[in-house]
Amino acid sequence: MTKLILTLLMPLMLGLIPTPVDFQPAKGNSTVNRVVVRKPSRALRKATADLPDFSRKEAYRLRIRPRRAVIEAYTPEGVFRARKSLEQLQALGEVPCGVITDYPRFRHRGLMIDESRSFKGVDFLKKQMDAMALLKLNILHLHLDDSAGWRIESDAYPYLTEKTAWRVGQLYWDWEKNGYRFVSKDDPEAYGGCYSKEELRELVAYAAERYINIIPEIEMPGHSMEVTKAYPEVSCLLEDGTRVVGSWDVCPGSEETYKLFEAVISEVMEIFPYPYIHIGGDEAWMNMWSKCVNCRKRMEEEGYTDVHQLQGYLIRRIEAFVRSHGRQVIGWDEILETGVPQSAVIQSWRGVSGGIAANAAGHQVVMSPNSHVYIDYYQDLIRKEPPAFGELTSLRHVYSYEPVAPGMDESLVLGLQANLWCEWIPTCEHAEYMLWPRGFAIAETGWSPAALKEPEAFRTRALAMQDLFRSMGYNTFDLRTESNLARSGYRTFESYEAAGLKNPTGIE
Ligand SMILES: [Zn+2]
Repeated sequence: MTKLILTLLMPLMLGLIPTPVDFQPAKGNSTVNRVVVRKPSRALRKATADLPDFSRKEAYRLRIRPRRAVIEAYTPEGVFRARKSLEQLQALGEVPCGVITDYPRFRHRGLMIDESRSFKGVDFLKKQMDAMALLKLNILHLHLDDSAGWRIESDAYPYLTEKTAWRVGQLYWDWEKNGYRFVSKDDPEAYGGCYSKEELRELVAYAAERYINIIPEIEMPGHSMEVTKAYPEVSCLLEDGTRVVGSWDVCPGSEETYKLFEAVISEVMEIFPYPYIHIGGDEAWMNMWSKCVNCRKRMEEEGYTDVHQLQGYLIRRIEAFVRSHGRQVIGWDEILETGVPQSAVIQSWRGVSGGIAANAAGHQVVMSPNSHVYIDYYQDLIRKEPPAFGELTSLRHVYSYEPVAPGMDESLVLGLQANLWCEWIPTCEHAEYMLWPRGFAIAETGWSPAALKEPEAFRTRALAMQDLFRSMGYNTFDLRTESNLARSGYRTFESYEAAGLKNPTGIE
């Protein structure tokens, strides 16, 4: 009995994040003078016989002996995951002898970074990818355009960056206060930037070396003030002949809109090899469409009675374009409401309901609900944290998230993703502070079996990992200063106190 309990607890006794599927300890620690790579043994084949292909591809067995480590895997990616486990143990200061058998639960373990509200640049993204690789996170979703700035150079539509990659106001809200003003790159007040194609290719290569896939997002039809400013012909046309330049939505009635997005997406597909292209689709206002000559014409042609149908028209047309190039679209959960082919992946953000509905309709889904994994939200008490959005979303709360809701078909759940929107995050240092350690929780939920997750043991490992990150120069939130409320996982003082707990702030 004691032996059984010890065996069950063993994976949690390694310092690794994410915790491995299985660890069978042996006596002593290793100096790891040498690492040997071998073909999969019968033991690994047996342990992974029932796994789906995506999981077997990353599976590994790591035998740690007093002086050497032996890695077995099916693919170079599996070898890489094993090396990262070893690297983590070495960096954490102790490499116990034994055998780790390990593979991921989900194929999509991601972070989204909002490049539009504040621009981060190549060095920052490389640094975060180093961290992601260490934690076996494998998806970096880049939100490359939004009203606050377009961040990817286009040959076909150069004004996108020439006219809207620099603005007045580093903090998004300052830009808003300044009247949403864009300026030229050499303006003394200019804040912003954009990625050249060469820089993006460099990032894609850097990601590939770390078995990370970058998903580019080209947002439409909402969140597009910068697009309608740079190219007024994609904005709605009123009866008096004026254009709604700087409007939130592009015009789904005008052919110019399709010309622009298809050209841009073609350029994006040349740079990013990952099969998935994100096309946004959230929060369209649709307030100009009923007033627009071109939108009305389109509605008449298509027999539409409601402007919402125009959103569906645009998304389906872009989806078909992307699919005709052998790629697959991902869109925020709104795209489900206006009709989209089953080949589209739905990313649930307005809680989990969009993901559940999409899953029931046979769509693959990525779960990134704002109820749990919006890491632009506060990670501790408002009084001690820099301004942020939303409810308390502490490490423990993020860690508590289970991506497969009861009744969902797990085979259609690609995985989970934390989203870092940057309205309140003007600098790279601040972005790092919001990413870590909450990114640790995403890594573990995405990789480790749900049955092995345990919040207190995880917190102990997260503390050590946080210290390692800080020693490597990452500006993490400090768990040691965390309030009792945040640590408890409750989100409000009321719920904390209702549970009979005392001293929520941690200050007696
Ligand atoms: Zn229009």
